[in-house]
Amino acid sequence: MRPRLSQPRRSTPSRVLPAGERALIAAIRQRVARPKGSLRIGIGDDAAVLRVPAADDLIVTTDFSLEQVHFRRDWHIPEVIGHRCLARGLSDVAAMGARPLAAFLSLSLPAELDTPGTGKSWPERSWIDRFFDGFLALADRYKVPLAGGDTAQSPEFDQRGRKHAGLIAADIVLLGSVRRGHALLRSRARAGDVIYVTGELGGASAELLAAGRDPDRFTAITRSQKNHPHLYPEPRIDVGLKLVSGKKAHAGIDLSDGLSTDLLHVCEESGLAAELDAAAIPIHPLAEQAERDGWVPSALGLALHGGEDYELLFTAPKWSRIPRKIAGVNIHPIGQMQTHRRRRADVVLRERDGHVSALDAGGWEHFS
Ligand SMILES: [Mg+2]
Repeated sequence: MRPRLSQPRRSTPSRVLPAGERALIAAIRQRVARPKGSLRIGIGDDAAVLRVPAADDLIVTTDFSLEQVHFRRDWHIPEVIGHRCLARGLSDVAAMGARPLAAFLSLSLPAELDTPGTGKSWPERSWIDRFFDGFLALADRYKVPLAGGDTAQSPEFDQRGRKHAGLIAADIVLLGSVRRGHALLRSRARAGDVIYVTGELGGASAELLAAGRDPDRFTAITRSQKNHPHLYPEPRIDVGLKLVSGKKAHAGIDLSDGLSTDLLHVCEESGLAAELDAAAIPIHPLAEQAERDGWVPSALGLALHGGEDYELLFTAPKWSRIPRKIAGVNIHPIGQMQTHRRRRADVVLRERDGHVSALDAGGWEHFS
């Protein structure tokens, strides 16, 4: 018998799943395509079996999506939570320049959520069905199979038996593969490299700010995914693959914590410093709108420090011809990697007037 941290509320033998859990797994399995390609055995056995291309390295990444930390049930519709859960993992795969092979999802769910498979049409479908609507739509788009995971009921009692609200927790594991030795690493930047980012920055935090002011804006949102950088971030898988196949980039990272923080990671891992050109940083229209509306002192602040844009940052030598678009995504040069200079910060910002100042890492604090 497996050790338990909390008292079981049912006298179920430990190896027999509760009916709700069996129904949940059956419902998920029904919606997942049969194994093909690299995935030989998916949901249903003790473990999944994958066949990784012989000339590749295996990439593994894991990310939590926790209620009240990464999402709020009163702000985010279930489709959004499912999409974002998978997008975070896929973005890390993209940052390595890898192709996603399979996803594994562990879910801890409060008992009050309805059993899936109720069959009603949106939005009367159960929370879990709608979570998987969002999750599997993105999975289909990038042809990444859901190959396994685990489910459990969230604890709703403390040690003294007092009831409290159960919270949702989703843990996503992504496997990917990349040609042996070709993964885009944070540690491979070289002095003189140009720093590039994909897309436009600050949109995700601007959209989250909007929700903080008017949560109805979020719950009113239907399944339309266009121009919602916070709700429906787009992992840059195709850009990452192109960067690796073209051997153009030295180093890469995805912008999850914010440009200032993530660039500092590249500096630390590569043992270098960096200078950003303020005028070159691409600012998302929603961030500009937030400045116009007086919600933030500057849109540039959101672009520099607001997190969860899930764009890619990469560095490449000056002579490597980086196009203005890769896989249909805008690419912007925003600065340069440099050797350390005495009494100068790791990351500095050169303003339009030529003034250079230290750029402190000020990544996004979730819901603070
Ligand atoms: Mg990352």
